[in-house]
Amino acid sequence: MDLFEYQARDLFEKHGVPVLQGRIADTPEEAEAAATAIGGTVVVKAQVKTGGRGKAGGVKVAHSPAEARQKAEEILGLDIKGHVVKRLMIAEGAKIAQEFYFSVLLDRSNRTFLSLCSVEGGMEIEQLAVERPDALAKIPVSAVTGIDKALAMEIAMAGRFPEELIDSVSDVILKLYDVFVKEDATLVEVNPLVLTEDGQILALDGKITLDENSDFRHERDDMERDALDPLEAKAKAMDLNYVKLDGEVGIIGNGAGLVMSTLDVVAYAGEANGGVKPANFLDIGGGASAEVMAAGLDVILNDPQVKSVFVNVFGGITACDAVANGIVGALNTLGARASKPLVVRLDGNNVEEGRTILKEFNHPLVALADTMDGGANTAAELANG
Ligand code: GDP
Ligand code: MN
Repeated sequence: MDLFEYQARDLFEKHGVPVLQGRIADTPEEAEAAATAIGGTVVVKAQVKTGGRGKAGGVKVAHSPAEARQKAEEILGLDIKGHVVKRLMIAEGAKIAQEFYFSVLLDRSNRTFLSLCSVEGGMEIEQLAVERPDALAKIPVSAVTGIDKALAMEIAMAGRFPEELIDSVSDVILKLYDVFVKEDATLVEVNPLVLTEDGQILALDGKITLDENSDFRHERDDMERDALDPLEAKAKAMDLNYVKLDGEVGIIGNGAGLVMSTLDVVAYAGEANGGVKPANFLDIGGGASAEVMAAGLDVILNDPQVKSVFVNVFGGITACDAVANGIVGALNTLGARASKPLVVRLDGNNVEEGRTILKEFNHPLVALADTMDGGANTAAELANG
């Protein structure tokens, strides 16, 4: 989960990273009030989860509360790379002498943490990495030993910080690493980390990605989160593993591996059938009971883009006859809401019993498929026709 800048600022403050005051504002009036409370020069900053806000006109300095209100009016509603600004942070102004870059992140490909550091901050780091790769230090960080003072100093030196800043910068790096570990982050990035005219090191912009798997050990219930797609929200409320995609063939399977390969097979079959594609990922897991099947079908059939559904289940501990009964129960529960053709492929434990149940049910919308490829083809044809 990516955080907004103001949320990153709050976590920085919590762990002793030097930051300036920041207050959120959702209206020009709130922006004016926040600027009054902070006093002096402020910076009005768009809260959107994308970089390059400065360049896009989403970061503006204001010298009075009235000006803060006016800048807020300009920035609210702005579209920055497809993100519409609904919220602002009013930040205390800083007199910047120099802008630097620091980040620490989970480097999956090297199975370690990685720290990036450069005295050339401010500009987008992707650009720096391409244009001046040797200005960007990359220091691996062991997840076991982490960053201690010696390594923090090494990182600052590798980033080419001047001698006289190594001590203060490395102290801030230690605190940022604290944020990374204690908040269970996979990314902590500061751009710019600045040196002010009066010699302070401050984190002026922060980007944090949290590992949502750690939610249970943090108090994050009140944290602002991105709105889910309505169908995803519905699926989540029913504990379903559902991801909406852009295609026309709804997919239900049991087990993530089977569902993933079903997506591939349907996409392949779609190539010969007008280019139809999978409409979603939905793993109903091991249970595959009538309730879960009904809930899953209900979500998928509510997607107006879906033209056909492919149910691909491999009976294991939950045998095919139980799954077939689940489908029958689901279709009975849904009644007229089940309005799109359903291709069902069953295999594995008790497959014959399962197929017999569906044959006897004889529902006009249900077609049985013998193989996964055959089922994918039929579903793609139905979605295309
Ligand atoms: P980004 O463009 O989305 O990365 O947004 P930033 O928060 O990094 O802001 C972009 C730029 O605005 C920074 O690199 C700074 O040059 C400038 N900026 C941000 N906050 C302040 C501030 O408090 N005072 C001044 N003078 N400039 C600021
Ligand atoms: Mn920035």
